[in-house]
Amino acid sequence: VKIAVPTRIAIDMDEVLADTLSKALRQYNSDLGLSITKQDLAGKKLRDVIPEVHRRQLEGYPHDPGFFRDIDVMPGAQEVVKQLATHFEVFVVSAAMEYPSSFGAKFDWVQEHFPFIPARNIVFCGSKSIVTADFLIDDHVHHLEVARAQGLLFEAPHNVNEAWTPRLKSWEDVAQYFLK
Ligand SMILES: [Mg+2]
Repeated sequence: VKIAVPTRIAIDMDEVLADTLSKALRQYNSDLGLSITKQDLAGKKLRDVIPEVHRRQLEGYPHDPGFFRDIDVMPGAQEVVKQLATHFEVFVVSAAMEYPSSFGAKFDWVQEHFPFIPARNIVFCGSKSIVTADFLIDDHVHHLEVARAQGLLFEAPHNVNEAWTPRLKSWEDVAQYFLK
């Protein structure tokens, strides 16, 4: 027997709820005495603009269990997700399998900044093809392409040249899309 289910919105963590890129930039710039900014990264990933010799170091950051613990929340995310959660079924879905040592820190981070999201609505997965939702908000087209959901591309420097629509540029746009 099918039961009526509320509209389900799945929301990615890194670059959507969490400003992970700023943390990586801060750490990389401070380790190497550089000043790369988000503006330098239009259409590129951080690994694309750093010298080959430093890539291994950069790629090691997210494997440090503490890396994800003190990341800033994306502006507006807390207020808008809180409102969404009163109207919709909200899941936080992270392809955390890329960094298995991050599970604890990522879970604690969501609980700290989004305490109104119950633990059972936090999902760490490998492929986002497992995601079945009405909507998925994510900064990676390759995740939107495989999820069983209407994909909403959340703008990040690396995806500014991607053709996906709809594109949401900020949490204000998310509020506009679902709540207005
Ligand atoms: Mg992401």
